[in-house]
Amino acid sequence: MARVLIVGAGLTGSLCAALLRREAARPVHLAVWDKAGDSGGRMATTSSPYDPQSTVDLGAQYITRTPQYAQKHQSFYDELLAHGILKPLTYPIEGSVMKAGDSNFVAPQGVSSIIKHYLKESGANIRFRQCVTQINLKNNKWEVSKETGSPEQFDIVVLTMPVPQILLLKGDIVNLISEHQRQELESVSYSSRYALGLFYEAGTKIDVPWAGQYITSNPCIRFISIDNKKRNIVSSEIGPSLVIHTTVSFGVTHLERDVEEVEELIFQQLENILPGLPQPVATKCQKWRHSQVTNPAANTLGQMTLHLKPLLVCGGDGFTHSNFDGCVASALFVLEALKKHI
Ligand SMILES: Cc1cc2nc3c(=O)[nH]c(=O)nc-3n(C[C@H](O)[C@H](O)[C@H](O)COP(=O)(O)OP(=O)(O)OC[C@H]3O[C@@H](n4cnc5c(N)ncnc54)[C@H](O)[C@@H]3O)c2cc1C
Repeated sequence: MARVLIVGAGLTGSLCAALLRREAARPVHLAVWDKAGDSGGRMATTSSPYDPQSTVDLGAQYITRTPQYAQKHQSFYDELLAHGILKPLTYPIEGSVMKAGDSNFVAPQGVSSIIKHYLKESGANIRFRQCVTQINLKNNKWEVSKETGSPEQFDIVVLTMPVPQILLLKGDIVNLISEHQRQELESVSYSSRYALGLFYEAGTKIDVPWAGQYITSNPCIRFISIDNKKRNIVSSEIGPSLVIHTTVSFGVTHLERDVEEVEELIFQQLENILPGLPQPVATKCQKWRHSQVTNPAANTLGQMTLHLKPLLVCGGDGFTHSNFDGCVASALFVLEALKKHI
């Protein structure tokens, strides 16, 4: 059985795993490794340390289906809607720019439930806290090293982490990337921003008429979501939760600062926008060094094949664009590349 390793348990990696399980001509041994402690990547959902039901989406907030992708990716939307993983967004997001025919969806169980669904479907052997550091060629297989534990061998490797993290990998991979490919990979750029999740005691009232709001007049804060309301979970037993996304310029300026200091700066600005907010019982500040792709790899058609025999492919939003459909498109291109080898 071919041993396939997918690095990254974000949307691209989890969907690649599910598609491969469904469409491979022969059975494969599938492994998914992620350096984080849980799945989701930039579609992460985190819960209050005091109440597992009080959660925030720290990265992606909602999925916008455009008319083009409503057709092209219909089966993906149908599947997630049929399982109740996506539901239409019913509360207003003030300041969002909707084009004719667009529809917004939220994930009631948190956006990471999309990733968890695909991982479950894949039946893959999933391992967290596995930070891949090196990829070497050994006896016509890939020997993959991680920060801890022994290296392991695979027939096929798929890399789905943000492109700058692919370029950090050591070993034979460094010399296998052609000069032209390296230039393309180095041209991929991302915005940076912080996300701050705030968890409140059950029964706390956050009295605003919206579920989310884009802010245009603040140097620090770009977006606020009353996260439980966005997902239509308004209950006196579950503490409300808020998420704040900073502007990219704030994110870039404070990228190397202590997260605690950044959290304090965000709180000061939040007081100007929503004065008198109660004290949260818990907070979670997340730095997104690689937030959304500002310049994807050109001429790569959704994936880049770094080596043919054995196969080494990379995919992810760095090869398309940063949203649900960008990741689905990339996963489909990765699948096409893989099918020829399985
Ligand atoms: C703040 C923010 C807001 C967003 N808003 C939206 C939105 O509203 N709607 C929308 O559709 N999209 C949104 N996006 C974009 C969307 O989240 C991304 O396009 C998508 O999640 C990318 O998925 P991915 O699987 O390609 O990459 P990732 O989610 O980044 O997954 C890559 C995974 O690789 C792992 N990894 C990295 N290096 C290694 C290593 N060396 N070894 C092992 N594992 C490694 C990481 O831990 C990560 O889990 C937003 C993103 C951010 C950050």
